[in-house]
Formats: sequence, C-alpha cells, structure tokens
Amino acid sequence: MAMITVKNLQKKYDGTPVVKGIDFQLSPGKCVALLGPNGAGKTTTLRMLSGLIRSTGGEIHFEGMKGKDIRSQIGYLPQHPVFHNWMTGKEFLVYVGRLAHLSMTEASARADQLLERVGIADAKNRRIGKYSGGMKQRLGIAQAMIHKPKLLMLDEPVSALDPIGRREVLTLMEELKEETTLLFSTHILNDAEEVSDELILLHKGEIVESGSMNEVRDRHRVDKIDMRLEAGFEADKQAVAALPSVDHVELDKGEWHI
Ligand code: ADP
Repeated sequence: MAMITVKNLQKKYDGTPVVKGIDFQLSPGKCVALLGPNGAGKTTTLRMLSGLIRSTGGEIHFEGMKGKDIRSQIGYLPQHPVFHNWMTGKEFLVYVGRLAHLSMTEASARADQLLERVGIADAKNRRIGKYSGGMKQRLGIAQAMIHKPKLLMLDEPVSALDPIGRREVLTLMEELKEETTLLFSTHILNDAEEVSDELILLHKGEIVESGSMNEVRDRHRVDKIDMRLEAGFEADKQAVAALPSVDHVELDKGEWHI
C-alpha cells in the first residue's frame, strides 16, 4: 500500500499555475528523487506535502490521513534552513525537541541520538556558526528527524554544498534510506541517480516522467521523449545529456530539444 497518494495536486500563485495537477504515489521504504530544473515546482510540491502551504486543488492522503494530521508524519528540511548560529548543535536540537513537545530529558536524549546518527556528535558542543556547510546540512537533517517522522523530505539537500559537503550528505542519505522513506528534490540527475530508487521528473509544474531509473531510461530509448527544459541551466543540460539514450541536447528558441 502507498504511504502517500497525491491526486491532481495544484498550486496557483496570483492565478498563475505553478503545480498543474500532479498525481503520484510513494511506497514505504523507497527513496524517491523529485528531479527538475529551477522553477519546475519542486519546492512548492514539497511545501504542500509538508503542510507549510495550502494547495489550490487536489488531495494528499497519508496512510488514510488527510489535512493537518499529516504534519506529524513528515520531517522536512527546507532548501535554505535557518539555524541559530550562536547555539551549539546540541542546544539547537534540544530547542527543536522542546518545540516538538518533548520533555527536557527526552529532548536531550533524542538530540544525542540524532547527533550520533548524522555523524556530528564530536561537534555537538561547538557553535553552529563554526560548522561547515555539510555539517549544517546534517544538523538540518537531524532537526527534520526530531519527531521520528515516517517520511523524510529534503529540499535540494546538496545543491549549496562544496564537493566534500555533498559527499558527506549523499553518504548520509544512502544510510538513511535504509531506515526511512525518503523524498528529496534536486536539479542534478547524478544526485538522483546516486541515491534514489525512483524518480519523478517535474517540468513546468507537470510530471513528465516517473519510475525507476531503468524504466525511465528504457522509455527514453523507445520514445525519445522531448523533455523541454528551460534554457540557461547548465546542470540540467548535463543531467539530460547523461541519460544514456539521449544522443545530443541542443538549444532552440529558448528550449532544450533532445
Ligand atoms: P523549484 O523548487 O522547482 O525551483 P518552485 O516551487 O520554487 O520551483 O517554484 C515554482 C514556480 O513558482 C516558480 O516560477 C516560482 O517563481 C514560483 N513561486 C514559488 N513560490 C512563489 C511565491 N511564494 N509567490 C509567487 N510565485 C512563487
């Protein structure tokens, strides 16, 4: 049975549709990448799933639940997380734990457990301002897991990191996907390919492809689907060119043709 079922999900900003009626399901235990160029609607989709913003149409079901109840089941790391840099990593997680209604003792124990889990226990008494980008992101993942969510959602978790930070966080994601259901957004195919079991390809607010990496590749071989990606994003060009069935990618009138 699916963990999350999304039906005809829509979002309009000032009357302009940015998510145009998407349908998908997430199975428990899977790691799924939401892949698409900047502006595709990835953040908007994750925010709707997390309950941070309301959809303008459609339905989200989480194991039979709807609406506000879903929030407690999902942990969410935004694309630009805000940390209190003057706090230590431990203080921050205890603070987040208290906000999640844990007792002081519970929050402290959970903070220690999570600091260990994400691999920054050695730095728990150091101020966050002194953390590297990769350490901050790992702290952010710990924060998202404070309430033991069933689904962990990470918005572009590695896009702002240097190569060392990227490696740290991708390795952590590899480990976490064995323990939890994971949905993450990225605009880089290689990241999706490295960690995810399945991908959902979002473009201009619509799902243009979904399935396992192999399924998506096979379909490309058969159909040579014309995925029009917006111009100007080198990473997207590389991402599409990296699909083995794609012979070349060229720019024509502001759209990528494959
Ligand atoms: P992605 O995460 O794939 O880069 P977003 O979901 O952030 O895409 O954005 C999708 C589209 O919605 C973009 O065109 C963006 O400019 C627009 N958008 C996002 N948030 C808002 C907002 N709060 N108000 C108006 N437009 C928005």
